Amino acid sequence: MSTPAVIVVGAGIIGCTVAHELAAAGARVQVIDARRPGQGATRASAGILAPYIEGHGLSALRTFGGRSLGLFDAFIDRARRDSGQDVIYQRNGTFELAFSDADVDRLSALSAALWKEGVEARWVPPQAFGDHEPLVNADAKGALLITPHGFVGVTSLTLASAAAAERLGARFKVETGAIRIHHIPAGRVGVDTMSSSWDADRVVLCAGSWSSQITVEGADPIPVKPVRGQLIQLKTTAGAIHHVVWGPDGYLVPWPDGSVLVGSTVEDVGFDENYTEEGVTKLRNAAAGLVPSLADAPMMEVRTGLRPRGPDDLPILGPSMAVPGLIYATAHYRNGVMLAPLTAQLVTDLVFDRGADPALRDLSPTRHGHL
Ligand SMILES: Cc1cc2nc3c(=O)[nH]c(=O)nc-3n(C[C@H](O)[C@H](O)[C@H](O)COP(=O)(O)OP(=O)(O)OC[C@H]3O[C@@H](n4cnc5c(N)ncnc54)[C@H](O)[C@@H]3O)c2cc1C
Repeated sequence: MSTPAVIVVGAGIIGCTVAHELAAAGARVQVIDARRPGQGATRASAGILAPYIEGHGLSALRTFGGRSLGLFDAFIDRARRDSGQDVIYQRNGTFELAFSDADVDRLSALSAALWKEGVEARWVPPQAFGDHEPLVNADAKGALLITPHGFVGVTSLTLASAAAAERLGARFKVETGAIRIHHIPAGRVGVDTMSSSWDADRVVLCAGSWSSQITVEGADPIPVKPVRGQLIQLKTTAGAIHHVVWGPDGYLVPWPDGSVLVGSTVEDVGFDENYTEEGVTKLRNAAAGLVPSLADAPMMEVRTGLRPRGPDDLPILGPSMAVPGLIYATAHYRNGVMLAPLTAQLVTDLVFDRGADPALRDLSPTRHGHL
């Protein structure tokens, strides 16, 4: 198929980056969402790219995250070039603080293991904090610096990807969302919304937490649940921190304007996208625990999002058995930003029948039933 027609359902970071990659490869793309691009979990995301922290305890995530991180420089270059827009992106490393003896043991062992794998990582004793992060909590017993980690401005990347896709011919429909996806004879896939019916050669389902609300005819319900996350932004004097600073109760991201993002809560509250005073207080305390001078920093903003969580915390990515031509790209949970380049590449390869990537075995939708 040289110029397939593709409907992308959902315009979060996954839908927009998939749309860009597909349009760049020559597909005729239509994206549908009830909201404008970059809402959903995407709008709250801290954008941290840290597979060697997030992948702790889940080796597949570490492998896919490491692979996706390797694609990031070129991915950002393409988003900037094809959109003509800037994207906030820094590979400034993570500085993970250890406060307990158990954390010292775990992080210093991880440092040695990463070094053996060729990942630039180093244990920093408290007396050397001044060379790296002078303002972090002096009670910490050391820190693990992982140099290749970093962060991306998620809204800037999502909007640039949407703009790039549009420049390459993709169309974005902001109307009602999809309610049903079904097989149509002659190898097409149908998508019904409340007000219209569409069809295409391929459909990519990227509706994040709301994926479970879409009926895929003949398939089991998609096992994705929302997990709320709150994030705040604090005004600081420029240069308060230089790396992504990570600790047991939260993390800090140094924003280019000198402010700091503080994340995040993890809450099982269904589809409630509101913030809470309790959540904000928790984040303020977490920030002060990492960098005490942030205790009185004025708050600029609070954001919330619903992370799409699957049963095993890994994405659901691959072809549907129930509806030929449908491809799932959902359940990215805490790592949709980090995994966006790899997801966009795998989906594009599937749409263009370019052969199966071994990663798709671990991420296959069928591990969760008849999907
Ligand atoms: C506080 C917080 C911090 C985070 N920090 C990080 C981080 O540091 N690094 C990282 O990698 N990840 C992080 N994440 C996770 C990341 O944000 C998510 O994994 C990612 O945004 C998921 O993207 P998505 O496009 O799949 O879903 P979403 O962004 O939720 O987008 C789904 C889209 O589908 C649309 N939709 C819903 N229903 C329908 C329908 N019926 N039809 C069509 N469209 C529909 C929605 O309107 C929405 O636009 C964080 C998340 C939160 C909440």
